[in-house]
Amino acid sequence: MLDLDAVGGKSGQNSVSARVAYNRRRWDLEKDCLPIDDRMPFVCECANDGCLGILELTALEHEAGHMCPHWTAVLPGHVVQGDRSRTLVQHPHFWVVERDVD
Ligand SMILES: [Zn+2]
Repeated sequence: MLDLDAVGGKSGQNSVSARVAYNRRRWDLEKDCLPIDDRMPFVCECANDGCLGILELTALEHEAGHMCPHWTAVLPGHVVQGDRSRTLVQHPHFWVVERDVD
């Protein structure tokens, strides 16, 4: 788990929103071309502004990680302490995190 103070003391919500939007655009453009078992690279959607991590998800994994509007997909362990998020699922290669939008 990352420490919020160690990443600048900010929640990183703007950064998360930008990365989620980027991933959504890519998904909308490429989902129909992606074979069902192939993995596609996505930007990690964690709250660490400095994170440049890439996670690779199949179509089903991507959809499972974004079933609700406040769910994001992050690399394992990319949860920032104090950012009001909650880890829902821990897969070996990605975690699903619910963001508090208040
Ligand atoms: Zn990350």
